[in-house]
Amino acid sequence: MLKAGRNFIRSKIYLIMDLSGSKFKEILIKGFGRFRETNTMEKNIIEIIETQKGFFGSGKTRNLHFRQEALKKLEARVLDLEGEMLAALSQDLGKSHFEGYSTEIAPILGDIKYMRKNLKRLAQPRQVPTPLGLTGGSSCIIPQPLGVVLVMAPWNYPLHLLIRPLIGALAAGNCVLLKPSEHAPACSDLSRRLIEETFPAQHVALIEGGVEVGQALLEQKFDHIFFTGSSRLGRIVMEKAARHLTPVTLELGGKSPCLVEPDLNPRLSARRIMWGKFINAGQTCVAPDYLLVNRRIKEDLIEEMQQAITSFYGPDPRSSLDYPRIINQDHFQRLTGLMKAGRIICGGQTDRESKYIAPTLIEGVSWDDPIMGEEIFGPLLPILEYQDLDQALAIINEKPKPLALYLFSNDKNIQSKILNETSSGGVCINDTLSHLLPHHLPFGGVGESGLGSYHGDESFFCFSHRRSVFKSSTLLDLKQKYPPYRLSLKQLKKLMKFM
Ligand code: NAD
Repeated sequence: MLKAGRNFIRSKIYLIMDLSGSKFKEILIKGFGRFRETNTMEKNIIEIIETQKGFFGSGKTRNLHFRQEALKKLEARVLDLEGEMLAALSQDLGKSHFEGYSTEIAPILGDIKYMRKNLKRLAQPRQVPTPLGLTGGSSCIIPQPLGVVLVMAPWNYPLHLLIRPLIGALAAGNCVLLKPSEHAPACSDLSRRLIEETFPAQHVALIEGGVEVGQALLEQKFDHIFFTGSSRLGRIVMEKAARHLTPVTLELGGKSPCLVEPDLNPRLSARRIMWGKFINAGQTCVAPDYLLVNRRIKEDLIEEMQQAITSFYGPDPRSSLDYPRIINQDHFQRLTGLMKAGRIICGGQTDRESKYIAPTLIEGVSWDDPIMGEEIFGPLLPILEYQDLDQALAIINEKPKPLALYLFSNDKNIQSKILNETSSGGVCINDTLSHLLPHHLPFGGVGESGLGSYHGDESFFCFSHRRSVFKSSTLLDLKQKYPPYRLSLKQLKKLMKFM
């Protein structure tokens, strides 16, 4: 073993020695170039963080007027760049303007509007009750900005998932360093322009790049890390953050089940499921990942789902302007691999060059198939059947807690059974994705699907420290609390009732 290792190293040394002088020089120069690039990138990152720390320390971002102005500038810039944003989304993901606007630009503008309207209320100290035993004192909670925060975004809603956390971070009075995904290059480039043209880098900066940049960022100490991406990377982020005891928000993914009971009109269920599944070609963190259908309604539902696909995208979805494409060849290949399990009921057509995968319904898969072992994140929908609800609940509960859980049933008993006996980031009854819309519903995962939440008020609190402040009265001074302690345990217990 040792000998084989030695021979291997010797052969590599001979190989290097065999290289002509110029080739060897070229390898050295390339290696040195990469080393220099990494070094410069790290220096840049450190410089940005230091500048932002200095700016945060100046106290400017604490001022509410300053925060309002920042949100106003962001809003104006998003409105200015609306056309370019739609074009970038279409370039990266083949998103139609309708989908681009409704799922990316509208939520950003809606959030800014909500934050601007509610900022004063959210930022003000909140008085809370003080126990009788502390009479004369007062208690309040004062939200404070955290400092310099890092926001890392994925590629599937590349503008929405980068800018919505930014809105919360700005409103809460932080400095922000943004890292968009390298897999949506047009959106990444446009986001950089948007940020550079709107904010000084000491307040908000954006750094583009891939894995190396992500890794270099995670080496640094931030006051908070807001990460949206896969559960695999979520683990890495948490591990890296732990070294600095940096708090994290992890917006992750997973396999979100969709349960269908027979009491609802199958056409309505089918249309709502197909909409939520095939929007963005299934590349949505909360897309229904697999169907659990009551056996009694399975055939009708499948029939209606096929009709829904045709009515949304026509007989050949490839020619529909409303049907997006897969982000890149790696994901295209991964998804075509997943399609090998089970029996395709409809769809299944692919085109490597245009990264097209048809909306595809699959049955006859087992939990040992790769398609059931990972988050699908594409336009493939496996259909599993169950005979009674307890059987379906057992399947859901033995898997990691999902980001979303969908139930199609109007039966109140079934609804409360599902709510009481399962856990998931969010629940949507009789629709898909819509639970993300109300500003008053926090959005986030639980267990493997994430940690922490945002949207509406939660976006503000996610980037704030809720500082507890108690002001004691100087008029009263309870002698009994000081040593030497004179109260008996019985007297102490009576007194503690007033705390
Ligand atoms: P990803 O985890 O691959 O990447 C996310 C970010 O991490 C990107 O900016 C990427 O450049 C960076 N990165 C990649 N490798 C890194 C490394 N080794 N070290 C540091 N940074 C690194 O996620 P993705 O493929 O872009 O997105 C898909 C996943 O995101 C899916 O699992 C999906 O469910 C999830 N997602 C979750 C939500 C949510 O809100 N919960 C929203 C969208 C997507």
